[in-house]
Amino acid sequence: YPSLSKLIVLFTVSSGGLVAYSESKPYHGANSIDSSQIDSKKKRVLVLGTGWAGTSFLKNLDNSSYDVQVVSPRNYFAFTPLLPSVTCGTVEARSIVEPIRNIVKKKNMEIRFWEAECFKIDAQNKKVHCRTNQDTNLDGKEEFIVDYDYLVIAMGARSNTFNTPGVVENCHFLKEIEDAQRIRRTVIDCFERASLPNLSEEERKRIVHFVIVGGGPTGVEFAAELHDFVCEDLVKLYPAVKGLVKITLLEAGDHILNMFDKRITSFAEEKFQRDGIHVKTGSMVVKVSDKAISTKERGNEEISSIPYGMVVWSTGIGTRPVVMDFMKQINQTNRRALATDEWLRVEGCDSIYALGDCATINQRKVMEDISAIFSKADKDKSGTLTVKEFQEVIDDICERYPQVELYLKSKQMRNIVDLLKDSKGNDAKESIELDIEGFKSALSQVDSQMKNLPATAQVASQQGTYLARCFNRMEVCENNPEGPLRFRGTGRHRFRPFRYKHLGQFAPLGGEQTAAQLPGDWVSIGHSSQWLWYSVYASKQVSWRTRMLVISDWARRFVSGRDSSRI
Ligand code: FAD
Repeated sequence: YPSLSKLIVLFTVSSGGLVAYSESKPYHGANSIDSSQIDSKKKRVLVLGTGWAGTSFLKNLDNSSYDVQVVSPRNYFAFTPLLPSVTCGTVEARSIVEPIRNIVKKKNMEIRFWEAECFKIDAQNKKVHCRTNQDTNLDGKEEFIVDYDYLVIAMGARSNTFNTPGVVENCHFLKEIEDAQRIRRTVIDCFERASLPNLSEEERKRIVHFVIVGGGPTGVEFAAELHDFVCEDLVKLYPAVKGLVKITLLEAGDHILNMFDKRITSFAEEKFQRDGIHVKTGSMVVKVSDKAISTKERGNEEISSIPYGMVVWSTGIGTRPVVMDFMKQINQTNRRALATDEWLRVEGCDSIYALGDCATINQRKVMEDISAIFSKADKDKSGTLTVKEFQEVIDDICERYPQVELYLKSKQMRNIVDLLKDSKGNDAKESIELDIEGFKSALSQVDSQMKNLPATAQVASQQGTYLARCFNRMEVCENNPEGPLRFRGTGRHRFRPFRYKHLGQFAPLGGEQTAAQLPGDWVSIGHSSQWLWYSVYASKQVSWRTRMLVISDWARRFVSGRDSSRI
């Protein structure tokens, strides 16, 4: 039976959470959460964020051993891969969100959720400063402080503008549900405006010129969705502007979708050309005004001005201010995201974990550790290892560093033994001349394989699951400090390091065609992959409710097209 304190916690959760603030514990002008409601024997885990990483952590955590509190400015989880579909009404916004309270309720979990944003992390005192985003006047109680024993930072990232002038004021981003809804309204707005009387042909053309900046998966998918929306629905309703609509995709690099296989890149570029989507590569945006976008062409450095009706900015992610501020505190200023070790612990911090888009595993440290493993393996300092010893070292490295394993398994690195053999002229079948410098330079030859894990939902969600499992086993490991598993080197780690399993990626290209790149460099493009895309995304929905809603939205679109009301 739940104890009285648990009942109070349950009551506060079901009645909106915010009532649990205590007025009796002022702290530097803000309110601390009343800890009398907490089972003092339990460690307090504070999770910041309810995105892919935070939600997957919560879903997998066995919270009977922890007192769990969650802070996030949005009280739901959003299925971001379907955000581009929301921009054109293929899928409704409410179909891809699930309240976080629903998710934890289904798991019979007791958590306290605070709809607020964290604006300061005080690692020294193990406190997090939060501010609610409720509009109602809370008489100075908008800010409060939450104490923690373990902090899980899963705050994601924000859109990166590269400080380009005019972007924040004039462009749309595609990061949150609200962004997608705003884009949907603006697209319809543009068509309605362009249909008004008394406009010149040039003005109409400008209004229905849609520019997308960034040829990554999000920009490409949005361009494809918009093209389908225009061709399948809008031109029928707005015949006056039919021949004037233009979609331009600007990319600073040489190709769009450059993180995909070359076959996919070329297929996408050719398809877009056939569809009339204007792809401009080597074009860097330098300024955006309210009616035109200025670009600098690579090569001739020429500045051109492109009149537009709507711009969607999708050039990658940057660090959130609160994370940046925290990084300053812990001397990580020269990084894009919070550096962690392979156990997702923030470097230099006790009991703080970071995962998802706001974190990155420190690769420099990985290289140093690899060198140390090699040095240690060379017990008699002869500089030579047998093939078996060499293999053990490689296995050890792979176990500790999954990102290196991917790399070692790649075609290039299968030749690492040959590279070492070549540099010293030894027969690799009998012994390997130990050559750390050679090994390191061999690694750097295919450095691209070693780069950070991609900022994707897949990584974030796997990290959340991994960390929850570590937390679930924490007590057992603490009671059994010798632990079941060991690694070489200094320090003892209780858990296996995080190991990312890449399951493949999709790039929907419109016209019921999708490109799929699956593990093992298996590429499939076309209508069959579109059905694979439908199945995977339906199965990955966080609840049966959203699954049913998404499938019915797809069916509705097939039967009656998309809704173009501007509401
Ligand atoms: P998020 O999911 O962004 O969650 C961050 C959480 O932190 C949110 O709940 C937010 O409200 C909260 N938060 C923000 N500020 C604060 C604060 N100050 N205090 C407390 N909480 C805060 N990935 C794929 O693998 N496949 C795809 O097809 C794919 N498509 C995408 C399409 C689009 C349009 C976008 C934008 C992204 C896509 N991604 C895709 C990437 C994927 O969405 C991200 O990598 C993933 O969301 C990262 O998860 P996260 O938990 O780190 O961050």
